[in-house]
Amino acid sequence: MFDVCIIGSGPAGLSAAIYCSRLGLKTIVLEKGVIGGKMTKIPKLENYPWFS
Ligand SMILES: Cc1cc2nc3c(=O)[nH]c(=O)nc-3n(C[C@H](O)[C@H](O)[C@H](O)COP(=O)(O)OP(=O)(O)OC[C@H]3O[C@@H](n4cnc5c(N)ncnc54)[C@H](O)[C@@H]3O)c2cc1C
Repeated sequence: MFDVCIIGSGPAGLSAAIYCSRLGLKTIVLEKGVIGGKMTKIPKLENYPWFS
């Protein structure tokens, strides 16, 4: 059914999914919580690409 199954949709999982999809691999991401991982729960994001 799928070429790649990624467990977790934090920055690592979503980045992996983008790379796999761009390679033409049929990819599924499984997430037990909120899409985005810990980044969705922190009060203030700093020191991250495209954020100051
Ligand atoms: C309080 C706090 C503040 C932070 N502040 C910053 C900041 O300002 N700037 C910055 O760059 N970074 C910050 N970080 C770090 C940043 O959040 C992490 O580096 C980043 O989220 C790691 O991404 P990840 O994809 O590796 O893991 P995570 O974001 O942890 O994502 C993992 C995902 O996998 C899912 N998962 C786990 N097990 C399973 C399973 N068995 N089945 C399905 N899904 C599963 C989880 O629900 C989660 O959504 C902070 C972290 C914390 C805790």
